[in-house]
Amino acid sequence: MQTLKKSTKLNNVCYDIRGPVLDEAKRMEEEGHRILKLNIGNPAPFGFEAPEEILQDVLHNLPNAQGYCESKGLYSARKAVMQECQRKKIDHVSIEDIYLGNGVSELIVMAMQCLLNDGDEILIPAPDYPLWTAASRLAGGKAVHYICDEQSDWYPDLNDIRSKITSNTRGIVLINPNNPTGALYPESLLKEVIEIAREHNLVVLADEIYDKILYDDAKHTSIASLADDILFLTFNGLSKSYRVAGFRSGWMIMSGNKHNATDFIEGLNMLSSMRLCANVPSQHAIQTALGGYQSINDLVLPGGRLKDQRDLAWEMLDNIPGVSCVKPKGALYLFPKLDVKRFNIYDDEKFAYDLLKQEKMLVVQGTAFNWPEPDHFRIVSLPYVDQLEDAITRIARFLSKYKQ
Ligand code: PLP
Repeated sequence: MQTLKKSTKLNNVCYDIRGPVLDEAKRMEEEGHRILKLNIGNPAPFGFEAPEEILQDVLHNLPNAQGYCESKGLYSARKAVMQECQRKKIDHVSIEDIYLGNGVSELIVMAMQCLLNDGDEILIPAPDYPLWTAASRLAGGKAVHYICDEQSDWYPDLNDIRSKITSNTRGIVLINPNNPTGALYPESLLKEVIEIAREHNLVVLADEIYDKILYDDAKHTSIASLADDILFLTFNGLSKSYRVAGFRSGWMIMSGNKHNATDFIEGLNMLSSMRLCANVPSQHAIQTALGGYQSINDLVLPGGRLKDQRDLAWEMLDNIPGVSCVKPKGALYLFPKLDVKRFNIYDDEKFAYDLLKQEKMLVVQGTAFNWPEPDHFRIVSLPYVDQLEDAITRIARFLSKYKQ
């Protein structure tokens, strides 16, 4: 009998956040080891709870959520996203411009399927949240990575972006605030990206899922609020700011210049109908979440749990000999740099594997985020400070003796 092979469409696709090192961690857990998992940005297992009113609203509406809804999503939820657009100063967004999905993830895949023909190019940051690269390759596109510059607070290198544009480039992805670096982009930089998009007729795809997880009084600007003559797709959802990642509730907003996009919009509408609709019970969470008390602020302000954890993790990591870390301004991660000469690191997956075996701790190697060098890793800043303190002490101990 012939062996069953995955389709060749997947040959180029990878998603290493949940890759072989995680498989090994699972195996070790089955053997009875306790593994400290600093690998996934999932707030719930770290004791973060969703606002009670969101849970109550979903429970209350469960009996009304038995059927499919309109494929773009419930009117009430999309209306709430529309109001959010007003708060974010994204103009001229109607109900029809809003698509709800099973998390931002589904909508990223959908947008890439709709945008890219075989061989079309899309500019994606390095490092990136790797679903963007995976989804663009799955769609037959070519992920062209532009460098974000660690020396400049991890801002996108605009010259690198410009140098990588060809006649095949269709769009540019921005992740702001960024996963994995925690960078937050100023308005002046966003305007320069818009200028490039304008000049080359590119769609801007803005992943803003961490827009409310900001430290040190930082302010987030939605890039779509800064122009109306190019096409923007803005992605956001409830997974992080409202701590309900398991609900799978996200949205995509189309804004800006839609005049030349009728065919593209038809494609999106068709893809949206093909999956019938997103999970209906969790769509009921959106109105309450966006309209309710923004409890995420209590977590990121001084004295808030997320801020304390970010502060401690950053300081401890940055103090490890051979490690340096740009202080994150937003999101839930740290992306420290390793002195590869000092530790003789040539393979960062092996580094993550060795750390797992020795310290029973799971981090993600930088190359899983399409970072070109084996000199970074990512940890989440979600654990309580005492757990983080223990974890980073263990990383320091491990590195004090590590040579690859
Ligand atoms: N975009 C970024 C930058 C993320 O970090 C994540 C999840 O970690 C997602 C999208 C996926 O979010 P969702 O849970 O809405 O699918």
